[in-house]
Amino acid sequence: MKRSQPIVAIDGPVGVGKSSVASKLADRLQFLYIDTGAMYRTVALKALRQGLDLDDRPAVARLADSIEIRLQRSGGLLKVFCDGEDVTEAIRTPEISAATSPAADNPQVRERLVSLQREMGRRGGVVMEGRDITTVVFPDAELQFYLDADPNVRARRRFLELMAKGKNVTFEQTLADLLERDRRDRERPVGALAVSDHATVIDTTDLDQDQVIQKLYDLVCSWKSE
Ligand code: C5P
Repeated sequence: MKRSQPIVAIDGPVGVGKSSVASKLADRLQFLYIDTGAMYRTVALKALRQGLDLDDRPAVARLADSIEIRLQRSGGLLKVFCDGEDVTEAIRTPEISAATSPAADNPQVRERLVSLQREMGRRGGVVMEGRDITTVVFPDAELQFYLDADPNVRARRRFLELMAKGKNVTFEQTLADLLERDRRDRERPVGALAVSDHATVIDTTDLDQDQVIQKLYDLVCSWKSE
């Protein structure tokens, strides 16, 4: 099916700034913004609340099948709802970040969320970001990007963000957490983080956020005018 508006698929490792870049790019293009990490986080949150063992794959998969996840843009922010409850804040704690990795390793959870993501994006006019968007969810996306940056730079950005939120963390701990999440993302048997052959790799180490957004915006516009 030929889409009248493109799908912009963005992958990259933790802390590279995908969410901010993707959401601002979507605003500029007047596209829908889909944060797929938020969907995996929501499954982890629900599983913890229900007291499930995250390694009990069939139970977590059944849960993922039974919940309703909705992403809604409001005033430039993305709100995440699960079964009608606003979980936007609740899914952003370090506890949920840690619990999300085992949930995201679960192939049946991935199957369910990938199918929802395809449904959300299939008409185009979306910016979707995550780890497997260019490789699994929409390998046929018209525009594909892989954002990367030196791990020390990513950890520093994350550390400053956490400090600004008043969290009591050290840079060394932030770097160690980031490297561990990178490892899990890259070694996951299904939906692992990888650079698609069709993706344009953008190294953001020496770029600020506005420069990255401008670069992507220009590439989308030049695709549209082809
Ligand atoms: O991007 P974010 O840090 O919010 O992602 C939360 C978790 O969900 C990460 O552990 C990541 O590995 C996982 N994830 C995934 N596939 C995606 C998006 C996120 O496995 N498409």
